[in-house]
Amino acid sequence: MAGRKKVKKTKVRVAHELPKRRKIAIQEALAAHQTEDRPEWDRTAVWGNIKLFRKTIKPGTIRTILLPLLEVDLGDPWPIPITILHGVRPGPTITILGGIHGDELTGASACTHLLSNSFTDVGKPLDPKQLAGTIRIVPVVNLPGYRGKSRYFPDGRDLNRNFPGDYKGSTTKRVAAQVWKYLLKDSDAIIDLHSAAKGRSNMPQLRVNLAHAGSNILAKAFGIEILLDSKAPSGSLRKAANEHDIPAITYEGGGANLIDNTTVKVAIHGVLNVLKSLRMIPGKPNRPRFRVLASGSRWLRAGEGGLLDMFVSAGSVMREGEVIATISDPATPGLTVDIVAPEDGLLVGAATNPFTASGMPVGHFLPVSKHISLLEEQIDSMGKFIVCGSDEKPSWREETDVSEVALDGEWSGGSVDSEWVNAVSNQKNLDTYQEFE
Ligand SMILES: [Zn+2]
Repeated sequence: MAGRKKVKKTKVRVAHELPKRRKIAIQEALAAHQTEDRPEWDRTAVWGNIKLFRKTIKPGTIRTILLPLLEVDLGDPWPIPITILHGVRPGPTITILGGIHGDELTGASACTHLLSNSFTDVGKPLDPKQLAGTIRIVPVVNLPGYRGKSRYFPDGRDLNRNFPGDYKGSTTKRVAAQVWKYLLKDSDAIIDLHSAAKGRSNMPQLRVNLAHAGSNILAKAFGIEILLDSKAPSGSLRKAANEHDIPAITYEGGGANLIDNTTVKVAIHGVLNVLKSLRMIPGKPNRPRFRVLASGSRWLRAGEGGLLDMFVSAGSVMREGEVIATISDPATPGLTVDIVAPEDGLLVGAATNPFTASGMPVGHFLPVSKHISLLEEQIDSMGKFIVCGSDEKPSWREETDVSEVALDGEWSGGSVDSEWVNAVSNQKNLDTYQEFE
């Protein structure tokens, strides 16, 4: 990737790769959408205590309650912590969820940061004394799955395929019904934070039905570049919400069983942007320089089996023919197969598991034919796309939060450099020695 030419920066707004019919549907939906302001959000509207699962939350306060995922008299009701930040002024109710899949930790980490003192103290971004409206944060929805390091609920089902749920259905359907009743159906906006499934990693991206006007506005407010326009899978939270005209977006970043700091940072950046856009907290939202609205992507699959050696990672901007990965087989040394970028584009997701069989996904590829140079204006030295919000300093870390580790001892020879000087003067090959710097 090194040696790529830097292209001159231009000011642009891009919406491309969407078919004409889809563009018209999106335009019509946005035109029919009246306004984001509702009478009950008016600053002079009546405002007071709210109740969630029989608990009262007063204006200007933060309260964490336990919501049982199952309402049972016998056995474990699976209580999950929900933190409600109830503002002093009227405004929307927004629900931010992590860990619907128990092994996806990006949302869990981002929500946990958002609930720390760096965000909720007096004068901080989420200070309830400055807040308009109500924020509900659930770091881990699938707590039983999280404890078992699993995507699924203990009955083996995927919560995100069982909404809006059924109180008389399977265990997971009952959980979905409870989550729908207490957290989703009265939300004015929902941000659902995810990571890629096991064995893969995603660069920060949103999944949204752009032809649902409220979700379209919400996605743009999040303030990142890559928006994948898709109707959600059947039974997913996003689908159920949109069917009830509730704006909902799915954020994807990082991979299962790991915490990728950049994707966590972008998630926090996005949540704060949305809150600013909805005028729930003060400040102007950040905007990306451009957006890629994509209606299609390609899964690049392995044609052979063996050991997968990834040359690039999720977020890499690729030119046609550049090598993404190589497959080799320890049983057949000397033979390798390259997987190359089929055209110019962006690798939005990449495999992280080297064990590969024919047909397994190696990369999730976004063909970006016309505007590839725009992406190339915003890459790091590794050729990876720099997502809006990822290059900021981590706003949740303050000087007082930084621990200092003291190591006792003394410098042999009396000076900090003495050992180094002796070593260098005794060493014939300086190059190998400099590796220790
Ligand atoms: Zn997920």
